[in-house]
Amino acid sequence: MKLVIFGPPSAGKGTQAQKLAQRYGIPQVATGDLLRKAVAEKTPLGLKVKEYLDKGKLGPDDLIVKVISERVSKPDCKKGYILDGFPRTMGQAKALDKMTEVDLVMNIVVDLDELVERAVGRRTCLKCGAVYHVKFNPPMNEGICENCGLKLIQRDDDKEDTVRNRLKVYHEQTAPLIEYYRQKGKLVDIVGGGGIEVVFAQMVKAISQIKQRASPGHGGL
Ligand code: AMP
Repeated sequence: MKLVIFGPPSAGKGTQAQKLAQRYGIPQVATGDLLRKAVAEKTPLGLKVKEYLDKGKLGPDDLIVKVISERVSKPDCKKGYILDGFPRTMGQAKALDKMTEVDLVMNIVVDLDELVERAVGRRTCLKCGAVYHVKFNPPMNEGICENCGLKLIQRDDDKEDTVRNRLKVYHEQTAPLIEYYRQKGKLVDIVGGGGIEVVFAQMVKAISQIKQRASPGHGGL
């Protein structure tokens, strides 16, 4: 099962992708996490993309496509995966078409005014990638990851100016992909404003519908 989660920055893609990964036993492939890890480890890729991340700009398609195609060819992706943060440009979508056929694109629709508040309050664990929010999803101990016990950080790109820039980039470059996948009959809209579990339930329902369609009576994909 190959799923794509779409939505503007801070729509909750990462949170939902983690829950889906647990539920369906397939990995979350989060471009942003892969790139941040490379930056933190100062790998050649990290050095190339650091400036883009810091400014909230998209990295070059060829580089990003390479990162993703390498990641999805690992053994843990054999049964499927959840793409979170990819594709983000038409060039990436076309490259993905060549790589594989996705089963479903879930487009989280969120009121734009909510997004800045969500992003600015977001706290992330650099080790395990867990995501919290100071108001909407606080960890049990303030500022501490529940999985690793490490101090949570605010990503540089979750600071307000960068968030506004990322929203602009999203509208210019990523939003057009919604129509691309809608026309292919692959896209379902998910109402993103109702809390984590409400959003998750919509996704599970959409996935069970495509599973049934793919293989009625056989347990699906
Ligand atoms: P995210 O964590 O998905 O919000 O991504 C954080 C940052 O990583 C973005 O603002 C971009 O600088 C970079 N990035 C993530 N995914 C992509 C992508 N598919 N194409 C280009 N740049 C990306």
